[in-house]
Formats: sequence, C-alpha cells, structure tokens
Amino acid sequence: MTRDLVVALSGGIGGAKLALGLSRILPAENLLVVANTGDDFEHLGLHVSPDIDTLMYTLAGLDNTELGWGRRDESWSFMETLTALGGEDWFRLGDRDLAVHVERTRRLRLGQTLAEITSEFCRRLGVHPRVLPMTDDPVRTRLHTDEGWLDFQDYFVRLQCRPTVRELVFAGAESALAHPDLLEALSSARLRAVIICPSNPFISVEPILAVPGVRQALSACPAPVVAVSPIIGGRAVKGPTAKMMTELGLQPSAAAVAARYGDLLDAYVMDVGDAGEAEGLSPIVTLAPTLMTSLADREVLARVVLDAADAVPPARRRRAPSS
Ligand code: GDP
Repeated sequence: MTRDLVVALSGGIGGAKLALGLSRILPAENLLVVANTGDDFEHLGLHVSPDIDTLMYTLAGLDNTELGWGRRDESWSFMETLTALGGEDWFRLGDRDLAVHVERTRRLRLGQTLAEITSEFCRRLGVHPRVLPMTDDPVRTRLHTDEGWLDFQDYFVRLQCRPTVRELVFAGAESALAHPDLLEALSSARLRAVIICPSNPFISVEPILAVPGVRQALSACPAPVVAVSPIIGGRAVKGPTAKMMTELGLQPSAAAVAARYGDLLDAYVMDVGDAGEAEGLSPIVTLAPTLMTSLADREVLARVVLDAADAVPPARRRRAPSS
C-alpha cells in the first residue's frame, strides 16, 4: 500500500494558508483537510462555520485578501440595510458570504450533515481536496475571561479578543462523535503524514483534539505527526495566539507551542529566526522560513513540512509503523 494520504488539521487563516500550499503540491485525492468547528455559531438564525468557510474560500481562490477574511468581490447591501434597521451588525456578513450561511442552514434543517454540505459546497466552488469538519455534532468553544464566560465569537469578534483569557472549554466536545472518515484516515495504511497547521493551538487545534478518539488516533496513527509553529519571533502573525499564551501563563514562543502539543509530535517546523529555541525540544526540529506571504511561500513551506514528515525515521516515531 502506498503511503500517500496527508491529513492536515486546521483552523482558519493560518491553517488555510498551509492547506493551500499542500493543495498545490499534492493530488487532491491525497489531501484531507480537517476543519475546526469550535468557532461555529448561530447568528441571525443562520449556522456560521468560520473555519470551514475560510478553508473553502482559500482553497477555491475566493478568499478576500484585502480584508483577510470572508469572500472576495464582496458587497455589503445586506449589512448596510441591517444596520439601518437597527439590527445586530457586530458580525460582518457580506452578501456572497451570506448566501453560504443561508444555504447551509437550509440544508442542515433538511437533515443533511455538516460534512455532506461542506463537500457539496466545495464541489460547487471548485475545491478539489476534501474539507471535513472534525465532527457533525455541535462543539462550541467558550472562554472564561476577566469579563466572565464568553461565547467564542463574542470574545473574538464583538470584543476583539480584548478580555483576558483564563480558561477555555469546548462545550459539547465530550459527547461529539469524531467524523468516521477522520478516524479512518488516521488509522489508514495509506497515511503518509498528519500535519498540524500553523493555527492557534487553543482555539483552532485543541477543539479538534478534544473530540473523543482524535487525540488517541493521532497517538496511535501509523505516520509521523508534524506541526508548524504559528508563533514567529515570539509573536503571532495575526490574531490572539501570543496574547492568549501569556494570559494562560505560557511563554509566547514556538518552543512553548511544541511543548503544548507534547508527545503528539514527531517533528516540528519552526521559523529560522527562532533557531535559539530549538535546543531541548523532543520532536525533530526543521528550521525554515515560515511566514507565508506569497503563494510560492505557501508551496515551499508545504514541501518543507512534507519533507520533515518523510525524514522521521520509523524508529523515532512514537508508534510502530503498521506495515
Ligand atoms: P483563525 O481560526 O482564523 O484564527 O486561524 P488559525 O488558528 O488557523 O490561524 C491563526 C494563527 O495562524 C496565528 O497564530 C498566526 O500567527 C498564524 N499564522 C498566520 N499566518 C501565518 C504564517 O504565514 N506563518 C505562520 N507560521 N503562522 C501564521
């Protein structure tokens, strides 16, 4: 059996950048992108799945590079009208984006699963690799902050990550069923590598790991697990990762992210500028430029990550290869 399947665990923006790189160097059937759904929420009566949509738009080449979120060629008539009516306008939904949430919600009400709907939207938008929600069941990230318990989007968008985070929970995770195709992929003899994308560990990757069976499947999987640091030079490229680390009593550093993933990792890709942090880390470290600005950067980093995975000697893996 050829080991050709790559599973990438991803949040939104940072993860989608690497997923795009991977999608450009791997045949579509060899890439499974697993999306965090802990950011999902009901808004204006609609089911919004921000990380799935970021992945879908990015992989389709439809992402809005000016805003850094949402769809390109967007118009805002709905939002302007909602504001004029005194509606809830703190979460910005462009007109084109809105159609996705309306149609997703309609299909969910008809009994289709989030995974089925995501596959169908991806097909229609021309996304070839499979994008799979970690679960079809509701999981909601909630944060205990100095302003009390907050739903994820209240913290992230309405309060722009200002509150100090003390603790996170993934409500519903304990009774959620990991998508069977995820568990199957992680135990497949085809598995070449699992890649933990440069996403926020606390709000993008850990919700995926919190779904029962996923962490165990990663620990037992027959292929190397490689993470890419979302922290470069002690700072997040975007978003609250570094701020959150400090608030949770951790050093905002690439090394601290590796420590957080602990013995899940066989290999770790961190920025060349962070070479000083590599010493003493237990995964095999690859140093590379990890800031993805251009499309070429995304492809180059995707190759680096696959090479790092392929270079893990079987004896160094935490688990014996299955064949
Ligand atoms: P979100 O769900 O939209 O917050 O996105 P993610 O969790 O996937 O990504 C947020 C993380 O991606 C942040 O910690 C960023 O530092 C990281 N990130 C964004 N762009 C890059 C990049 O080009 N390189 C690296 N190494 N990390 C990045």
